[in-house]
Amino acid sequence: TSSAPEPDCLFCKIVAGEIPATIVAETADTVAFRDINPQAPTHVLVIPREHHRDVAVMAEQNPALAGRLLADVAAVAQQEGLPGFRLVFNTGAAAQQTVFHVHAHVIGGRELTWPPG
Ligand code: 5GP
Ligand code: ZN
Repeated sequence: TSSAPEPDCLFCKIVAGEIPATIVAETADTVAFRDINPQAPTHVLVIPREHHRDVAVMAEQNPALAGRLLADVAAVAQQEGLPGFRLVFNTGAAAQQTVFHVHAHVIGGRELTWPPG
């Protein structure tokens, strides 16, 4: 199935502990770690342990997991002390998705502008 670990997936390897990451939170469903190329003082990626290509596939195949991931995003934002945050799921290459294991970008710690461009 699409949720089986993908041998060549970078984020499956982070979930498995095969590639190091600065982990800030873990639950039974998700792992949260600092982005290696942060775009703000706080830039955390929250990913499901299950492999799904993008948020659309996850929502389709496991909507309960998608809901729990959102709750875990909120917990990370609170843990980071953010008064506000931006939550981004780049979805598809046309939207600059580069890692095809769904990840929520949690961005904050500076003034955020809108629209994002
Ligand atoms: P995307 O462009 O797919 O939405 O975002 C992928 C994100 O993963 C980028 O912000 C990139 O900096 C981050 N990233 C890529 N490789 C690694 C890695 O090996 N470790 C960590 N912590 N982040 C990574
Ligand atoms: Zn994966």
